[in-house]
Amino acid sequence: MRLLLTAVLLFCLQVAMSQQLNVPVQEDELRQLVSFLASDSMKGRRAGSDENRKATAFISSYFQQLGLLPAANDSFEQKFYPDSADSLNTLSNVIALLPGRSKPDEIIVFSAHFDHLGTDRKLKRDSIFNGANDNASGTAVLMAMARYYAGWRGNERSILFCAFNGEEKGLLGSAAFTENIDPAKYVAGINLEMLGVPQIGRKKLIMTGIGKSDMVKIIGKPMKDSGIKLRGDREDNLFARSDNFSFAALGVPAHTFLSSDDGERCYHKPCDEPGRIDFTNMALLANGIIASVSEIISGAKTPSRIILR
Ligand SMILES: [Zn+2]
Repeated sequence: MRLLLTAVLLFCLQVAMSQQLNVPVQEDELRQLVSFLASDSMKGRRAGSDENRKATAFISSYFQQLGLLPAANDSFEQKFYPDSADSLNTLSNVIALLPGRSKPDEIIVFSAHFDHLGTDRKLKRDSIFNGANDNASGTAVLMAMARYYAGWRGNERSILFCAFNGEEKGLLGSAAFTENIDPAKYVAGINLEMLGVPQIGRKKLIMTGIGKSDMVKIIGKPMKDSGIKLRGDREDNLFARSDNFSFAALGVPAHTFLSSDDGERCYHKPCDEPGRIDFTNMALLANGIIASVSEIISGAKTPSRIILR
């Protein structure tokens, strides 16, 4: 385990150092991040596995290299103990903070889950659920956005980066995290999911629960100016199915952004491989999201709270 972690740390250092700070999200950095997280050697990052812990170590060292602050007490890793029957070990979320310049107590949270389904030995040909789209893609966008904001440091509000674990087991990581927060401090949540495969077409994004807050009034125009078409979730059933919901249940205007949904051909299948990812489109979406939330980050605008009924 120690040798493995040393290799992971060295790799992180290389990746972090090779990125210029304060340039928009680059296709190449997304490719590097997804290639690592969704490689066969990561064996599908199942919550509780060694490879899942390797992903945890990778993301925390990455955040550390960027100069972000550890935000789970004095650590980047928030340990939690899922009390489920299938004997999961301790799991960790990875939480990092970039304090706001003038409004540090007002937080915008960016999140993505990094766990996936692991492997299935019964499958003869390809037994590894790589989870490149679900959700190495969202995790890579989260990390690249952290790299961008850490270089820029112009945020008036605080930005919290949450890489959640145990999502595939039932939103475990975000549920554990939101148990101890003061929801009133959280002004907005942007959850990143399945952004690698442009199932609904390039330069398009699905926003779940689009009518549940007025966030779309703030982000719609800059999104359009970035060349991205934003639309709601057609079936309107994805809102409660990802980590945004742990925040939304407390009233935080938190929505998930996706370029593909559970109808995608390789969704939760071993063919969800890095080779299917459109990194050019992913970078465009990431930069569109950055542009679209600028007035929330500056404190100029605040989306309305969510009232679930
Ligand atoms: Zn997912």
